[in-house]
Amino acid sequence: MLARKYFCWYALFYCFLFLTGCKSKSSVVKKGPAEQVIPVKIDTIIKTVIVHDTVPKLSIGEHKVWTLGKMGSHAGMRQETAIHYDIRKPNYVIIHHTAQNSLDQTIRTFQVEHTKVSSHYVIGRDGVIVQMLNDYVRGWHAGLSKWGTITDLNSISIGIELDNNGREAFPDEQIAALLVVLDTLKTNYGIPTANFIGHADIAPARKNDPSVFFPWKKLADRGFGIWYNPAELVTAPDTFNPIDALKIIGYDTSNLKAAIIAFKRKFVINDVSPELTVYDKSILYNLYLKY
Ligand SMILES: [Zn+2]
Repeated sequence: MLARKYFCWYALFYCFLFLTGCKSKSSVVKKGPAEQVIPVKIDTIIKTVIVHDTVPKLSIGEHKVWTLGKMGSHAGMRQETAIHYDIRKPNYVIIHHTAQNSLDQTIRTFQVEHTKVSSHYVIGRDGVIVQMLNDYVRGWHAGLSKWGTITDLNSISIGIELDNNGREAFPDEQIAALLVVLDTLKTNYGIPTANFIGHADIAPARKNDPSVFFPWKKLADRGFGIWYNPAELVTAPDTFNPIDALKIIGYDTSNLKAAIIAFKRKFVINDVSPELTVYDKSILYNLYLKY
């Protein structure tokens, strides 16, 4: 609570700075020299990088101002500022199930101090979409994770939590709402088709979400994630190396059994044993050819 109160005063302070800075900003722009335009860009960043309070149904509600301060600056180096930049965009979407029992329970989880977890969106069983973080800020949903050579998924991804206890199907209304969010994100940020993945993909030894009930094929049919082509399944050739294939897709194979289980939970579904059968390898081979 103290932190929240402090943050409000902090936000007011920056609002004050921004408002009082507007006059000098416009006179600075008219002068023209590049270095004098810089304060305008910084104001733009301060205005743009914001943290939402609870914002139901994607509407823009109350905001907090958030600033970098001295973070990212290296003392002792000569400081010159380039004038061409904007804010980094998300390039991955990570899908989760909450393993909780209600939407409200998850919202509370993301709003109390001690949990240290959050996601950008939470989607209810009835299809209600709750945005809890601006797309441009770094949510805390991926945790210790790896995909390909990427080791900080939180920095480049949007986290979407689906209200689901992990032992139940995902209702059609919830998946329909998810598809709306995914379509918006893909359009707004140009996220590649293969970069819509699950928490268990990036943390196979720690996580199992979303569960076997999650309709990955339905998502892939709409352009979110990669799925194999059942009509093209063939026995993988003798030269095929399934471990390399898992790595090429993105899986961290340092715990190979966990990686195989994560792969099978997603693509084989009705068998999640930690060995690859001939059939499993044919699916993996078909996927491998798509990368
Ligand atoms: Zn998760």
